[in-house]
Amino acid sequence: LRTRVAVVGAGPAGLVLANVLQQAGIDSVVVERQSRPYVEARARAGVLEHRTVEILDAHGLADRLLAEGGRHGSCEFRHQGERFSVRYQELAGDRAHYVYPQQFLVRDLIAAYLSGGGQLLFSHPAVALDGLDGDRPVLRCEPDGDAESVEIECDFIAGCDGFYGASRPAVPAGRLRAYGRQHEFGWLAVLAETPPAGEEIIYALHEDGFAGHMLRTPSITRFYLQCPVGDQPENWPDERIWSSLHRRLGMTAAELKPGPITEKNVLDMRSFVVEPMQYGRLFLVGDAAHIITPAGGKGMNLAIADAEELATRLLAHYRGAGARALDGYSAACLPRIWQAQEFSHWMLHLLHSPAADQDDSAFLHRLQLSRLAQLRDSAAYATNFSDSYVGRAVSPGS
Ligand code: FAD
Repeated sequence: LRTRVAVVGAGPAGLVLANVLQQAGIDSVVVERQSRPYVEARARAGVLEHRTVEILDAHGLADRLLAEGGRHGSCEFRHQGERFSVRYQELAGDRAHYVYPQQFLVRDLIAAYLSGGGQLLFSHPAVALDGLDGDRPVLRCEPDGDAESVEIECDFIAGCDGFYGASRPAVPAGRLRAYGRQHEFGWLAVLAETPPAGEEIIYALHEDGFAGHMLRTPSITRFYLQCPVGDQPENWPDERIWSSLHRRLGMTAAELKPGPITEKNVLDMRSFVVEPMQYGRLFLVGDAAHIITPAGGKGMNLAIADAEELATRLLAHYRGAGARALDGYSAACLPRIWQAQEFSHWMLHLLHSPAADQDDSAFLHRLQLSRLAQLRDSAAYATNFSDSYVGRAVSPGS
C-alpha cells in the first residue's frame, strides 16, 4: 500500500487526525490493532473541554455530540459533611464541559472517516516502523489470523497508538527524553449501570481515600475510589464498592442507587511525557507521547489537541510551507501538555488522602484542607482552577 500519512491507532487522536486530513484531500491509511466492535465499546473518558468541542465542530465532527451530550458547568467538593460547588463555567467566561462517552465519539469518528472513503484496517497491529529517518518510511502490520502482513509506504507516520503501542519504541534509544512519575496511590475505576446521583461531578475527600462521581450518560455513571498501589479488582466485590462509595461520598443507597457494575479496573496512576514528540518522519500524538492521570479529565482532550496541531502542520507542509511547519509540532504541543500535567498533579494532591504510614501525612493533609478552603473562599483561586479545569481558551490565530 502507498499513502501520504500512515496513522497507527484508531483512538481519538488517530481518528481526528485522519478525518481532518481526509477533509483537506490528503490521503491516509489508519491501522488499528483491535476489532471495530472492540474499539467502539471501549469505555474510558467522557469529559470534553470546550476547546475540544470547538475543534471537532469546526470539522463537522460534533453533530451527534452536540445533540446528545450534556453541557456541564459546575462541580462539587465534599469533605466531612461539608459541601460546596465551584461554578467553573461562570468563572471561566462561559466555557463549559461536554459530557459524551469516549466510545461514542470513537464510533462517530470512525463513521465519518469511512463515509468519506477513508481506509481503516481493523485487527491490523503495527509491528514495525522502518526508515523513519529517510524520505519513505514503511509501516508493517501483522493482521490477526492467517492473512498476510501488510506494508504501507508513506511520507509520514503518525504514532497515535497509545502508551503501549509500537510507535514510541520504534525510536532509536537516546533520541527521546522521558519524564515520568509513578504516583503513590491507585484508583479503582468503576463503571455502573446506575443514573448519576445529581447533575455535578463530585470529588469527595475522605479519610478512607478519595471518591469521585463522574457523569457519563443518564443511565451510566463512572466512579473512582482511591486504593493502594498494586490493589486488585478482585479485592473489590460489588458490595464493597457500593458501601465505600456511599461512605466516602456521604450518600445513602437511596441517593446513589446500586446498579450492575459492568467494569472495574485498577488504573496505573502514572504521569509521563516524552520530548520531543517527533523523530524523523514519525510524529507521536496523544497517549503515545504522554499520559496523564484521569484527575482533571485531560487525556482525551490533549490527544485531540495534538491531532489538530499535527493535521494543521501537515496541511501547511503539503501546501508548500516547507519543513519548518512540521518541525514546530512538538514545541507547539508541549506547553499545553505540561500545563495539563501540572493541573492534574495539583488536583491529585488536592484529592488524595496521604497514606497513613507516611511520616508527613498529617502535614500533607493540612495542605489539602488549605487548598480546599481557598477553592471555597477565594474567587481568584477558584477562577484559576476553573480556567485550567475547563481548558485554557485559545486566542484567535494562535
Ligand atoms: P487511545 O485511545 O489509547 O488509542 C490508541 C489506539 O491505538 C487504540 O485503539 C489501540 O488499540 C491502538 N493500538 C495500540 N497499539 C497498536 C499497534 N501496535 N498497532 C495498531 N494499533 C494499536 N481523558 C479525558 O480527557 N477525560 C476523562 O474523563 C478521562 N477519563 C479516563 C478514564 C479512564 C478509566 C481511562 C483509562 C482514561 C481516561 N482518560 C480521560 C484518558 C483518555 O481515555 C486517553 O487519554 C485517550 O484515550 C487517548 O487517546 P489516544 O487516541 O491518544 O489513545
